[in-house]
Amino acid sequence: MPELPEVETIRRGLEKYLVEDTIEKIVLMRNDIICGDADDFVASVTGERVVGTGRRGKVLWLELDGGTGIGVHLRMSGRLLLVPGTAQVPKHTHLVAKLGSGRQLLYVDARRFGRLELLGLDHLGEAVLLRNIGPDALSEELTAEDLIEAAASHGIGIKQFLLDQRHVAGIGNIYVCEILHRAGLHPATPARRVTPAEMRALLRVTREVLQEAIEYGGTTLSDGGYENALGEWGGYRQVLRVYGREGEWCRTEGCRGKIVRVKMAGRSTYLCPVCQAKGKRRTARKP
Ligand SMILES: [Zn+2]
Repeated sequence: MPELPEVETIRRGLEKYLVEDTIEKIVLMRNDIICGDADDFVASVTGERVVGTGRRGKVLWLELDGGTGIGVHLRMSGRLLLVPGTAQVPKHTHLVAKLGSGRQLLYVDARRFGRLELLGLDHLGEAVLLRNIGPDALSEELTAEDLIEAAASHGIGIKQFLLDQRHVAGIGNIYVCEILHRAGLHPATPARRVTPAEMRALLRVTREVLQEAIEYGGTTLSDGGYENALGEWGGYRQVLRVYGREGEWCRTEGCRGKIVRVKMAGRSTYLCPVCQAKGKRRTARKP
């Protein structure tokens, strides 16, 4: 599932290659990928020029010159691909935007959990896709103090806390494992038992990990899945310190631990039992 670094990489590609192009025609193969009225969506975006892009968490949008926008949540397997006008449209393509430049922008989604929505750029808060989405993990609007305050009332583990998009938007299962490893915190540490100093460090490493992953163009796992707007894979998989590395040596300098995989809330969680032992003791000491 694409997380903040992957969605940001796609957004940057669209910003670079799509802005100033015009949507001449929309061919919609499935109405159920559109949030709201599909006919209204098609009528509103046809003929519009793309003037910019935006993103919050895992939701990105294209800004159109009429003050509207196209919001996109890729969810599990959605892809936005910019291809030549002559390109064969791949399987599972649900929308084709024919562009003034002669190219096409495709929305492809094998599992069909992703959604597109017509947005009003002046009132993004009303969008279904952005409902319950808190501040972006990289936004300066988000402070460690906000997280400390939100965590105070949460007995859930810090992993679940960071995955809740209302607290901080953009983190999913891969990066949460990487972030907690780098912060040296056990994923089950109750959020309210993370100290203020640890929370400040946690927000700092969150941004470090996400920025680093953006520089690598995001993470494409060995079985594929995520691609950027030009159909290229991200290179961060080689850099991951815990995710997908069960049984391998920890990459923290001087650590002799081996990465383990445990199930938490039904999802695979990778951690180093040696450098992430810290919060574990706190989980055992329940009040
Ligand atoms: Zn370790």
